[in-house]
Amino acid sequence: KFDRTPLIAGNWKMNMDHVQGITLLQKLAWTLSDANHDYSRVEVAVFPPFTDLRGVQTLVQGDQLKVVYGAQDLSDQDSGAYTGDISGAFLAKLACRYVLVGHSERRTIHGESDELLNRKLLAAYRHGLTPILCLGEGLEVRQAGTHVEHTLTQLRADVVGLTEEQAAELVIAYEPIWAIGTGEVAGPNDAQEMCAAIRAELVEIFGSSVAQKARLLYGGSVKANNVASILRERDVDGVLVGGASLDVAEFANIVKFES
Ligand code: PEP
Repeated sequence: KFDRTPLIAGNWKMNMDHVQGITLLQKLAWTLSDANHDYSRVEVAVFPPFTDLRGVQTLVQGDQLKVVYGAQDLSDQDSGAYTGDISGAFLAKLACRYVLVGHSERRTIHGESDELLNRKLLAAYRHGLTPILCLGEGLEVRQAGTHVEHTLTQLRADVVGLTEEQAAELVIAYEPIWAIGTGEVAGPNDAQEMCAAIRAELVEIFGSSVAQKARLLYGGSVKANNVASILRERDVDGVLVGGASLDVAEFANIVKFES
């Protein structure tokens, strides 16, 4: 576990226009630099809306803020007649490090299939972006007790055709839909159960050295007061934070979690 740098990722979703986004990031930089705390042992990433990315790039480069950033989605295509879509090439040019792929809001609201998400993963790697693949079950599946099989089925379909090198770099976020934005947090045991199952599946598909390198995150109502117990789990290498990433003090306290 300790070779894998913990990743604390903030997904702003469709919040924060480019002016609000810059203000939030400046406050976050100030809060983190003010604290008498070494947060260099974690990687902090933010996922603003597309329209904020250029401003975020300028701020991060200018201030040498120790935050990396990425986009919330990308096209499976590189360029052409795809009105409204954003190419991974454009994101790479804005120095994005990461890109979210298959967030449950993309899967449900936009009907994104595992087949499409597989192409998006491959597109991310084509452009040198590290994908954060989001997986997880809804409430009905959880109640039926088939959540592990459901999530692993998504995983198997999404990673088709990845090389071992790509898979070792992959970040996977387990986000049970029933825990997103609901205040209902999966227990550390639930997060560990699923992350262990995902890692075991990665061993099956890509071998154990790849599986030991891939980072696995938990997401779903993560807050400053529950982050430490989740990150203590053996197979959980970070968190993907939605709502709480919009509150500077709360997000800073998540980054500063005490293990
Ligand atoms: C998310 O949407 O990725 C998420 C985890 O949201 P929240 O933290 O608000 O539950």
